[in-house]
Amino acid sequence: MSTPTRPNIVFVMSDDHAAHAIGAYGSAVASTPSIDRIAAGGMRFDSCFCANALCAPSRASILTGTYNHVNGVRTLSTEFDSSQPTFPPLLQQAGYQTAVFGKWHLGHGDGHDPVGFDDWSVLHEQGLYDDPVFHEPGGEVTREGYVTDVITDMALEWLDRRDTDRPFCLLVHHKAPHRPFVPAARHADLYSDVEIPEPETFWDDYSGRTGAAEAARMRVARDLRHVDLKEEEPAGLSDRESASWRYRRYMQDYLRCVAAVDEGVGRLLDRLQEEGIGEDTVVVYTSDQGFFLGDHGWYDKRFMYEESLRMPLLISYPRAVQEGSVQTGLVSNVDFCQTICDLAGVEPPDGVQGRSIVPLLDGEMPGGWRDAVYYRYWEHDDAQHGVWAHYGIRTATHKLIRYLPQGFGLPGTSEASYPEGWELFDLVEDPQELRSRYDDPDYRDIRDQLHAQLEELMATVGDVADPGRLA
Ligand code: CA
Repeated sequence: MSTPTRPNIVFVMSDDHAAHAIGAYGSAVASTPSIDRIAAGGMRFDSCFCANALCAPSRASILTGTYNHVNGVRTLSTEFDSSQPTFPPLLQQAGYQTAVFGKWHLGHGDGHDPVGFDDWSVLHEQGLYDDPVFHEPGGEVTREGYVTDVITDMALEWLDRRDTDRPFCLLVHHKAPHRPFVPAARHADLYSDVEIPEPETFWDDYSGRTGAAEAARMRVARDLRHVDLKEEEPAGLSDRESASWRYRRYMQDYLRCVAAVDEGVGRLLDRLQEEGIGEDTVVVYTSDQGFFLGDHGWYDKRFMYEESLRMPLLISYPRAVQEGSVQTGLVSNVDFCQTICDLAGVEPPDGVQGRSIVPLLDGEMPGGWRDAVYYRYWEHDDAQHGVWAHYGIRTATHKLIRYLPQGFGLPGTSEASYPEGWELFDLVEDPQELRSRYDDPDYRDIRDQLHAQLEELMATVGDVADPGRLA
């Protein structure tokens, strides 16, 4: 793709918005007409995967273009060292106006606050849905209203006051639809009368894999809390009826939260058109990772399974990207930093580990493009979700996962033994990942090949299986 000089960049990232809750990705239930406009006017990436399905680690990878063992943000509670090289200061130095509004989740105060932004206002920690508190250069501010609307308003007001003679890079980071899935009052009844089908794997019995899936504490039927469901369950339900009721309550509020995000996207897109700058603006819609929407009986993310691994990624840029195009090349959130630098025509920061995906915007797969993406979930057996640390690779057709023994990295909340082991999935034959083929003799060659690819990729990114016991 030949990039016209210095387009504007509007990067909208929601939090925990799974691709399968977007119309353009084929959701039968989620209504996302504005997000779908980006897909219709540009490119849908069908194989964008996060390097660690957690909020803070994904954000650190996006800013730096590095994996978490390099940028240090392995868990939700690790604060980001913002003296690391990131893309915003480079764009700023190249004459871009830069701003970030919304969720940051990388720590607050000197050394953690956003760097390289002309303007910033970021939610305190996770942020609140109603009347959220923001950190800004001038201190703390409480802004009245519903968080998604407040963040959209801040972005639009910033567009109003920017210098129209210079290009801009605007990051709009929504909190929604993250737990506890609190919808805007205007959406309180949305999806009340809509059938929300349970996914085929909702009643997964977790057989056919290591014990890790069964050990996780993210079950809709068992682990969602009152703060998530917000209503008392009707009396007298059977176990199955209870699970179905909980699923429906969960999905209604999740989709209601998505509705406000979609409206916010629509307001931004309308503004770009009204200003007549749509042609010169790259619009990105993504989420920091995917989410289980009752898939495998779960909510939340963390696992390297498809629903949480996959990120939605939609990019429109009328000057260069064909309308309604689809790209299946393997992309990682570690690529975002270089991609944004490439679009802006600036050199990426030192030490980046991703690749610019700008060549993929032509719709072609460039020769020598990667054949696997790397993943590592470090937050071993946290008190609430109980997902074991693991790492692995995903190719276009297969996935290899290793659940790690105790002591490889961060300690868990207990010293209990747990199911160390490998899983191998044939994503063509078994896209729902219900049956590991790791010990299947028919898959011996594929297994050997995946092991070799994984070793090579780990060496390339500089990660080791056992970094010792980390604090
Ligand atoms: Ca998230």
